[in-house]
Amino acid sequence: MLKIKDLHASVEGKPILNGINLEVKAGEVHAIMGPNGSGKSTLASVIAGKEEYEVTKGEIILENEDIEELSAEERAHNGIFLSFQYPIEIPGVSVTNFIKTAINETRKAKGLGDMPAKDMLKMIREKSELLEIDRKFLSRSLNEGFSGGEKKRNEVFQMAMLEPKLAILDETDSGLDIDALRIVANGVNKLKSKDNAVIVITHYQRLLEYIVPDVVHVLYEGRIVKSGGKELAHELEEKGYDWIKEEVNA
Ligand code: ADP
Ligand code: MG
Ligand code: MG
Repeated sequence: MLKIKDLHASVEGKPILNGINLEVKAGEVHAIMGPNGSGKSTLASVIAGKEEYEVTKGEIILENEDIEELSAEERAHNGIFLSFQYPIEIPGVSVTNFIKTAINETRKAKGLGDMPAKDMLKMIREKSELLEIDRKFLSRSLNEGFSGGEKKRNEVFQMAMLEPKLAILDETDSGLDIDALRIVANGVNKLKSKDNAVIVITHYQRLLEYIVPDVVHVLYEGRIVKSGGKELAHELEEKGYDWIKEEVNA
């Protein structure tokens, strides 16, 4: 699904990623952990194609296609979904209307017409039932007055509707409350399949109690310095990140 080879990236001329190698296969969930400032969000942004980040070396390959030259929008149309960390409020635009527009824009980029209204409604019904989202929520204005949990619910709904090949969830270091955590985890667990892949970025192991990763990577100073199974997340929770730093600097 995703292959990253010797990726180097800078922000404002400052190198942040210093040679990342990562392979994520369809059907897998990978967790990326690491201390604050290690480059986790930068990696997510670079994969998604955000413009502030300059790739100085290496390759990002999505389903055998080098996506280097694609804009963030094109990457989204190709099936990369990055959870929004700073959700925008759009008064007067409902959760449903926003996602309808997003879906039709993706179709347009592929040379397709709008999704027939009947199919759209069916999909909205199915996905909202799957995620236990009620109708009232779907008609609310996008992010306006949403609680932390509701923002997450909206994101998970968007993810469900867009059916990305690769979903990247950057939970940052924000204090997700337990409800929001469960909403995200429940959504990911219901949406993952043999045809898609998920990268969960998290500072704390907490989220990984609910989303069990196949592989855990530790990012430190812009490099993946350790990879392992889900037990690595527990080890990090217990011991913190200092031992990783010591190992690297030894
Ligand atoms: P993490 O998500 O692991 O906490 P980040 O990727 O957010 O780490 O940040 C890694 C480093 O890159 C930090 O030193 C941060 O200050 C810097 N950085 C990230 N994004 C930007 C940006 N847009 N402009 C300037 N510096 C940035
Ligand atoms: Mg940070
Ligand atoms: Mg971050």
